[in-house]
Amino acid sequence: MSTKDSAPRTAFDLTEHPHKRYNPLTGEWLLVSPHRTKRPWQGQVEDAPPETRPRYDPDCYLCPGNTRASGEVNPQYAHTFVFTNDFAALLPDTPPGTYAPHPLLRAEAESGTCRVLCFSPRHDLTLAEMDTPAIARVIAAWQEQMREVGARPDIGYVQVFENKGAMMGASNPHPHGQLWATRTLPREVEKEDAAQHAYLEAHKSCLLCDYAALELERGERVVYANAHFAVVVPFWALWPFETLLVSRAHVGGLRDLDADAVRALADALRQITVRYDNLFRTSFPYSMGFHQTPTDGGVYPHWHLHAHFYPPLLRSATVRKFMVGYEMLATPQRDITAEQAAARLRGLSDVHYRQGQI
Ligand SMILES: [Zn+2]
Ligand SMILES: [Zn+2]
Ligand SMILES: [Zn+2]
Repeated sequence: MSTKDSAPRTAFDLTEHPHKRYNPLTGEWLLVSPHRTKRPWQGQVEDAPPETRPRYDPDCYLCPGNTRASGEVNPQYAHTFVFTNDFAALLPDTPPGTYAPHPLLRAEAESGTCRVLCFSPRHDLTLAEMDTPAIARVIAAWQEQMREVGARPDIGYVQVFENKGAMMGASNPHPHGQLWATRTLPREVEKEDAAQHAYLEAHKSCLLCDYAALELERGERVVYANAHFAVVVPFWALWPFETLLVSRAHVGGLRDLDADAVRALADALRQITVRYDNLFRTSFPYSMGFHQTPTDGGVYPHWHLHAHFYPPLLRSATVRKFMVGYEMLATPQRDITAEQAAARLRGLSDVHYRQGQI
């Protein structure tokens, strides 16, 4: 008998053994390798070189009063400002049409619009450095856009998102987000639509209502919660410090939030973005976006409002995770577990590290 055969077998343990975790929102799996992070945290947390930006930048195309590439002049806006992207990826007047000369060669016309939403007239701020009432005004602007763009007969889905930081390819540090509105459902939304629909059919309850309740009960992956929203590192998180911001009540979209819920969402957004900045004492890069009820006139009882934060940083302000090699060709993989990431984020102060330094 070989020593291998006689080795004592230990029970499968999520904190010890490599395993796959299932993402019920997309139906996809990821590989988790917790044995690679058995060592306690030893990484130094060095401050990134202090980034000082002016409150106003005469060369910024998003600052109030400045002229954009299109020749249009931004108003002297006081809070938020929305305009149609001067280099939009989608255009409203695209004619409908299909191209299918062969079943293996398929294309469909896609129409829509792309808008830019400035969060603040201040060039030097980010969501993390704005106060809760200012963030609530950003949410109100998102709601207004959802009502206006979502009501258009040619629009089936409005993707609200923010791409923050040069590491994420953001071209301008001025705090802003975008709305891309399309006739059809985007790929990620289509996957989540199918998964939420199937779950409601099978369980007669909502996937994310059940998931939010489960995480709040277990606590180990919760970063922050208030009366209306919870921020968790989802069990199936793929990026090292990925979070899911989820409504505790069954709400389909941003349009459906009342004033109380808007304030609570502003609080939750401040809580998570401040903790992100505090984690590596840097302006934390990420892509974040809301997933919500399509606006194509369909009935969507299975849709539950939530936002995903996908940050690339792994160990410091400069060491990022890459989705390459095995991850690009086979299955995404992570080392630090969702539970470890949640504990680190939960343990951070909700006072921004630069407060008092600015
Ligand atoms: Zn600016
Ligand atoms: Zn729900
Ligand atoms: Zn989603």
